[in-house]
Amino acid sequence: MFTNDQDEYEFATLAVRAGQQRTGEREQSEPIFPTSSFVFTSAAQAAACFAGEEAGNIYSRFTNPTVRAFENRLATLEGGESCVATSSGMAAILATCLSLLKSGDHIVSSKDIFGTTRVLFNKYLARLGIETTFVPLAQLAAWESALRPNTRLLFLETPSNPLNEIADIGQLSNLAQAHQCLLVVDNCFCTPALQRPLKLGADIIIHSATKYLDGQGRCIGGAIVGDRQWVGEEVFGFLRTAGPSMSPFNAWVFLKGLETLVLRMEAISQSAQLLAEWLKERPEVSKVYYAGLPSHPQHALAVRQQSGFGGLIAFELKGGKTAAWTVIDSVKFISITANLGDSKTTIAHPATTTHGRLTTEERAAAGISDSLVRVSVGLEAIEDIKRDLQRGFEAIAK
Ligand SMILES: *Cc1c(COP(=O)(O)O)cnc(C)c1O
Repeated sequence: MFTNDQDEYEFATLAVRAGQQRTGEREQSEPIFPTSSFVFTSAAQAAACFAGEEAGNIYSRFTNPTVRAFENRLATLEGGESCVATSSGMAAILATCLSLLKSGDHIVSSKDIFGTTRVLFNKYLARLGIETTFVPLAQLAAWESALRPNTRLLFLETPSNPLNEIADIGQLSNLAQAHQCLLVVDNCFCTPALQRPLKLGADIIIHSATKYLDGQGRCIGGAIVGDRQWVGEEVFGFLRTAGPSMSPFNAWVFLKGLETLVLRMEAISQSAQLLAEWLKERPEVSKVYYAGLPSHPQHALAVRQQSGFGGLIAFELKGGKTAAWTVIDSVKFISITANLGDSKTTIAHPATTTHGRLTTEERAAAGISDSLVRVSVGLEAIEDIKRDLQRGFEAIAK
């Protein structure tokens, strides 16, 4: 239902309706199919399904109706032909790389990516003979000069976490096309509710569904979206064989998450904007990193590329690490955790958590100072979020 009618319906309608295939039971909400395999009506049907001559469910490692509903809904929202769901966001990145790359291939990646993705590239893919060059996200010239004849893939997250730098997806897409590489965008922070990279020229979208797609901190999952050839055949073929599949239960949770995605991303963006503006006026704060602020160096690009600025804010305190830890330790309800994209607001000190494994020099190069605090804004009342942070600012003054 709705899957092929992308142009006919608004995004918010598709987020609620796309991908549903009602069964003969006439259910309103999507059913969960917790079954490992499916039965055939005859030996001939089994043979036809296995031969790929007849479409149909075989085995839940690669064909499950609940997982398919989630895949179809997310593909529709991103404007892609195909989607493959995976057991985690990391499994989505691994499946993309192992299905599309081979030994001797080269990746150019933004250096401002999720820490675990960096380890995957630097350690595990490197072992297989796939090398990665890291470049500053927003410097097109650096991307260009890092390209080699064997470069197959450009990889990035935009906005970056935690500093909210923005990449020009259109420009990078031109670069990728000119060099016959694939442009892969991890769309975790904006989700298709705020940014649709395929429409801007990206080839493949990665999701950690664990974050905003669920949005309520319940399940681990991931997805890859793109065209029929690269994703529908190559990535799907890898998933079917290697097996990092999404469970039907998790797919159902993510389907329900997508139904409220638009509302949540709008509310979170609104609150984050108010919080960023408030932080900017605080005497204890020396700098705020949020693309929704007109003072952000790439504000104009963010306005062009995104329909909202998302929920991640980073800010620096004048009092260094002591002040940063004081703010974090003074909150009453905001969760001290490195996770993000939850209905519950979270707070973290990147220098000693997410970026703690980097050397001092690497941290400095990444712009992660000891005075930096990151907040992932949730769905609580903005006045309560401000009051919770206010306690920390008052404690610094003492
Ligand atoms: C969390 C995250 C991932 C990894 O997702 P998991 O579901 O935790 O495996 C990948 N990319 C980004 C940007 C993330 O924030």
